[in-house]
Amino acid sequence: MDTLEELNRKGFVDEKIDPTLDLFEEIERLKKEKNAIILAHYYQDPDIQDIADYIGDSLGLSQEAAKTEADVIVFAGVHFMAETAKILSPEKKVLLPDFKAGCSLADSCPPHLFRKFKEKYPDHVVITYVNCTAELKALSDIVCTSTNAVQIVESLPKEQKIIFGPDKNLGAWVAKKTGRDLVLWNGACMVHEIFSREKITKLRERHPKAKFIAHPECEESVLQMADYIGSTTGLLKYSMENDAQEFIVATESGIIHQMEKANPDKTFIPAPPNNNCACNDCPYMKRNTLEKLYLCLKNGYPEVTVPEDIIIEARKPIARMLEISAKMGL
Ligand code: SF4
Repeated sequence: MDTLEELNRKGFVDEKIDPTLDLFEEIERLKKEKNAIILAHYYQDPDIQDIADYIGDSLGLSQEAAKTEADVIVFAGVHFMAETAKILSPEKKVLLPDFKAGCSLADSCPPHLFRKFKEKYPDHVVITYVNCTAELKALSDIVCTSTNAVQIVESLPKEQKIIFGPDKNLGAWVAKKTGRDLVLWNGACMVHEIFSREKITKLRERHPKAKFIAHPECEESVLQMADYIGSTTGLLKYSMENDAQEFIVATESGIIHQMEKANPDKTFIPAPPNNNCACNDCPYMKRNTLEKLYLCLKNGYPEVTVPEDIIIEARKPIARMLEISAKMGL
């Protein structure tokens, strides 16, 4: 029999599915049988979002993972998110439909290099964006998300020196918003880095009444053009509260499914990237499919595990973030 490591290495359960099966029904049945919950990120395929018990961004998903009473968490997102769920609920089984659903941003900050970087700034507090590995979280003082990054920085005394990683674009935006001088790690997300300023300008000319809304992981040159900058949840709320009828959206295009559901009369246009595609999909997020989700729930793998010493250390900065967020009512 294969070990969990060998099973995970395959990426996903490669098993033929009876084409007559109603996967939505089967997933519902398995969820009850196994006392499982499905948490899905906004960047997942619409089918997965529609079957999920909870859909959200990193902050909401980590809060949900911390309070669920299910025995099994199926995390429809990427590896670092499933790790965060495991850190917060170590007694639960955490499944990831495709074990190879990684993240270019998390990969851009190898923990052994970050440790050396951190040693150069011994009097700095380390704040890391939740989009990083469990090992990196274990090297941090406070974790943040794009929803609460500004408030987390502002919760520290003005004279406190801060390292911010791994996303340099989010870090630069937070530095600008807070007026603080942050030491930034030079990491970035491949999805948010390739929006084309030129194509967005042309798109705005064709849709002069559209609001241009962007995630702070985008480059500064793109953020400068935005009518509103916010986390995925922030962008969704803005689309609901603003009177505009058209929105050009600069983040992963999966969020548009929820925007359209919440605003059936409004039009959402994905901001074009700097390549031949019309919208911007995260290739890691899109590795998960409804079929893989069904098979992982049925078979109980791929399963995400985190070494116990890392769980103990990584829990502390996440707990600080959740505490600060709760205090601020975020
Ligand atoms: S969108 Fe970017 S940050 Fe998010 S999972 Fe994909 S590569 Fe990572």
